[in-house]
Amino acid sequence: MNIPFLSFSGQHDPIRAEVLAAMARVYDSKWYVLGQEVEQFEAAYAAFNEVGHCIGVGNGLDALHLSLRALEIGPGDEVIVPSNTYIATWLAVSYVGATIVPVEPRLDTYNLDPQLLEAAITPRTRAIIPVHLYGQACEMKAIMSVAHQHNLYVIEDNAQAHGATYNGQLTGSFGHLNATSFYPGKNLGALGDAGAVTSNNPGLAQRIKALRNYGSTEKYLNNIIGYNSRLDELQAAVLSAKLPHLSAWTAQRQQISAWYTEMLADIPGLTLPHTAPGCSHVFHVYVVRTMQRDALQQFLATSDIGTLVHYPVPPHQQLAYEHLGWGQGRFPVAEELARTSLSLPVWPGLTADQVAFIAKQVRLFFEAQPNKY
Ligand SMILES: *Cc1c(COP(=O)(O)O)cnc(C)c1O
Repeated sequence: MNIPFLSFSGQHDPIRAEVLAAMARVYDSKWYVLGQEVEQFEAAYAAFNEVGHCIGVGNGLDALHLSLRALEIGPGDEVIVPSNTYIATWLAVSYVGATIVPVEPRLDTYNLDPQLLEAAITPRTRAIIPVHLYGQACEMKAIMSVAHQHNLYVIEDNAQAHGATYNGQLTGSFGHLNATSFYPGKNLGALGDAGAVTSNNPGLAQRIKALRNYGSTEKYLNNIIGYNSRLDELQAAVLSAKLPHLSAWTAQRQQISAWYTEMLADIPGLTLPHTAPGCSHVFHVYVVRTMQRDALQQFLATSDIGTLVHYPVPPHQQLAYEHLGWGQGRFPVAEELARTSLSLPVWPGLTADQVAFIAKQVRLFFEAQPNKY
């Protein structure tokens, strides 16, 4: 059995005709930028996310960057971000010249620890960017309450958690502005780069619309220094074809994860995902943790099972952020996660037999070295 870390077959093969028809529709429309397809997808995604506004942009990183610009966050301002996120969250803060203030995650959920927020807030703090990492919703009640008390903006990074909920409310609908990504491998993915900002604030939504299109709301009139970061008509059409299937794909990810959790229970030395009360998990990735991470990954590779590490180097230890002077030991929880995390395959279409095989191999690995931990 050869099981890749990610395969699109389960998602894309059954809807090939629908997606190709959507692409042909764009081809024949002879309108390729900011037309009906983008408008229709924005309306459909806003409805899916239960928000008033969705603005399609070029990618998830731009969605974060434009959100910070729309809130006029810049040099001298501080923005709280998780210490263990994908680097895009940090880069967006760097783009606007604001100061990155990392806060450590909880070691059990891997999401921002709301109890550590107060200590990170200063008079210069302007915003918090909670990241619903791996697909699990952050503890939004606590985060929103701290933000409210200190008059801070919240920008959710919802790139990994389309359809997740906190106490029944969808992620991407809590913050003032919320960024998401439709990078192909995300739970809802385009056939290239794509992203969106979601919001319930009409004024801020309007600003994002201007920022994505050269700072213009009226053709050839530019009120602010904007960008070219528009969602393509072609990608919007593909996303509209895929969106109706997202809930079924999410259910499959959750089923696969439930199988893993059942089959991998009670292995000493192996930590399985923990979901906090009220937080739902859409399993963008299924992350296990072990001190034997590299050896386990190697063992699974020899069994033709693909795995990945999300993420091997935390942002503060990347060369790109060397100038901030945060070396080894500065954010120990993020470093511990980088050392011990391993993501198992969890794509829609993965069968019960395949999951059983992966679980069997994982168990075999630990049984072969009973005294290593
Ligand atoms: C993928 C991702 C992004 C960036 O999205 P792109 O579309 O690749 O720019 C941002 N934040 C998180 C947490 C992500 O996983």
